[in-house]
Amino acid sequence: MDASLIDLLDRGLAGAGPVVVLTGAGISAESGIPTFRGEDGYWTVGSAHYHPEDMATNAAFGRMPEEVWRWYLYRRSVCRAAEPNPAHRALVALEEALGDRFLLITQNVDGLHLRAGSSAARTYQIHGNIDFLRCGDEPSSLRPIPLAIGDAWTKDAPFTEEARALLSCCDGGRLARPHVLWFDEYYDEALFHWQSSLRAAGEASLLIVIGTSGSTNLPMQVGSIVARRGAPMIVINQDPSPFSRFAEESGAGWFARGRAGDHLPAMVEHLLERA
Ligand code: NAD
Repeated sequence: MDASLIDLLDRGLAGAGPVVVLTGAGISAESGIPTFRGEDGYWTVGSAHYHPEDMATNAAFGRMPEEVWRWYLYRRSVCRAAEPNPAHRALVALEEALGDRFLLITQNVDGLHLRAGSSAARTYQIHGNIDFLRCGDEPSSLRPIPLAIGDAWTKDAPFTEEARALLSCCDGGRLARPHVLWFDEYYDEALFHWQSSLRAAGEASLLIVIGTSGSTNLPMQVGSIVARRGAPMIVINQDPSPFSRFAEESGAGWFARGRAGDHLPAMVEHLLERA
């Protein structure tokens, strides 16, 4: 590893605040889960093609709830067939070494961090989890999607009466919704750790950003707070992004261009040696 990168990692670890890791769809790309920028990123209803930014909205759910559920059940099947990769596992090892000095903020709804072994308490799933449903915005209604729904939903599988019954609320048949933050909705603390994420950004000694394009609000706020504070920030991504610009302009950043699996394990190994 480059000496400047080693210096940043060491400075981050020596600080008094938490080591915060922010992940996006790129960390799960090597597990075979497509990002939203990939070729597979649209959904067809009749002759219309919808992009994720259209499907993942409250407005779409209001207009065509069964189509939105079909899209999520298909994506959930893809997620459940995927396995955590070495980058997910490296973060588990880092959490085990750092304990409460570690915090993971993930935009991913695939649940792979938790399946790899990251603890639920130190993992903020700020866009939800595709394996859960809820009735409206009521946190107490949050529950796993029933196993009976199965995880072999192909793109053309019909939404059956049985599926409707399994995905309904207890209060008389209203369809529940996926536990995902949609593009036309706002972050909150109860469901999505909004304030807690901002607080962590204000205290972080080191921020590692992996595989996110910077197209969502809270992650961008986290990155900009850390950059303004001048705390060490390391960005791993195949392509430049607003985060790589934060890193390059902050004076305390490093942009590791490439795949998560190619960069993260070596960085974590170094941190484990020094922790
Ligand atoms: P994004 O699709 O906007 O961007 C993915 C980023 O990852 C890109 O910058 C790309 O260059 C980078 N990338 C791709 N492969 C990589 C690799 N192997 N290593 C490192 N970087 C890689 O994803 P986003 O920024 O997370 O935001 C989009 C929204 O999409 C979020 O709301 C998220 O919840 C949702 N989403 C989640 C999943 C998932 O849970 N796995 C998948 C798709 C989309």
